[in-house]
Amino acid sequence: MNEAPPPRKIASGVFMVGGPDLTDPRDCLCYLVAGPQARVLIDCGAGPSAAAILELAVKAGSRPPSHLLLTHAHIDHAGGAAEIRRRTGCRIVMHAGDADVLASGDRRRSAADWYALGLESAAPDQILEGDGAIALSPQEDLTILHTPGHTPGSLAAWCLAGGQKVLFGQDVHGPFAPAFGSDLEQWRASMRRLLELKADVLAEGHFGVFRPQNEVTAFIEEQLAAHRD
Ligand SMILES: [Zn+2]
Repeated sequence: MNEAPPPRKIASGVFMVGGPDLTDPRDCLCYLVAGPQARVLIDCGAGPSAAAILELAVKAGSRPPSHLLLTHAHIDHAGGAAEIRRRTGCRIVMHAGDADVLASGDRRRSAADWYALGLESAAPDQILEGDGAIALSPQEDLTILHTPGHTPGSLAAWCLAGGQKVLFGQDVHGPFAPAFGSDLEQWRASMRRLLELKADVLAEGHFGVFRPQNEVTAFIEEQLAAHRD
């Protein structure tokens, strides 16, 4: 009948828990990385589907998320942040370059106007000034990279899952707009950093999951080729 689809397993301990065909057409693709020490929800959709995304994240991680890593403050990635923190007490982690957009509920820089949605403001619990990490287990981190370009505070993250390097690239494809504070020069440098990771899997924010490594490289290089000088 109307039962929600289950979370989709991407790799060991890595699941897709939100997105247009899982939760709401306005949602980015949202992922959960589950380790013994932390369960990190990576992005949380546009807002109206926060409860549905949380339900899938709890199913995938067996417990509520401990952290919500926001790759940037656009509403399709961050709109549900305030509600998910209210329901779980999770720590919202984001970069300083985008933190004030969410903290002030900025409708223009978050693209909320474009989605015709309200953005509930939320001050992050942890603000990164550069790269960062969240310990998933005593041995493994979710490594967070500052990858500005799409927005000033855009983040990517990667972890090892069952021997595979899984990269969460989210809006590596752009788009780019002055209203977002986009910077193509910075973006090209960020994409080169992502290419150097030689990830086996790219979990992207809108275009799905790419694998193996040559497909990940091809996708990022296609984006670079589409936005040359
Ligand atoms: Zn975006």
